[in-house]
Amino acid sequence: MSNTSYEPERFQSPAYLAVLSNQPSDISCQFHADAMHDMKNIAVLGYPNEICGLLIGSHTENICVIHEVRQVKNINTKRASDRFQLDPNAYQAIDREIRNSTLEIVGVFHSHPDCPAKPSPTDLNHAWEGFIYPIISVCDGEVHDVRCWEPHDDSGCFHPVNMMVHIDA
Ligand SMILES: [Zn+2]
Repeated sequence: MSNTSYEPERFQSPAYLAVLSNQPSDISCQFHADAMHDMKNIAVLGYPNEICGLLIGSHTENICVIHEVRQVKNINTKRASDRFQLDPNAYQAIDREIRNSTLEIVGVFHSHPDCPAKPSPTDLNHAWEGFIYPIISVCDGEVHDVRCWEPHDDSGCFHPVNMMVHIDA
């Protein structure tokens, strides 16, 4: 983990603070160790661009288990350093591939190059309730922080999701 971190001023602006709740989500997420490792690796390899991908796993009402992560092309090439947009074709291909398994798409991860692991108002505009959103902060090319969030339509905020990693995959 990098000790260096960056917090551009906009992260303290009212618009940014308004999308963050202090109230924890009811959901916890459990990453298989390989999935966490792969997600961080994808974020580091993509630096200084913003990468994105899908979380594949299963969930009960309160626990979301992430078995695997898949990078999906960020089709926002104009602002690849600070915006992401999932390639819809890749999304559909992964959805089709796992349709007959017990697994499903449970969330979307993306990186914040040289920014904190906190969601932005733009992230909220693109977020879907029912999905979880891990953000990997990559500073100077190294992972600084990983945090997971869940958007709630009723509060209009992201709520922090408790994150665990377990070793036996
Ligand atoms: Zn973001």
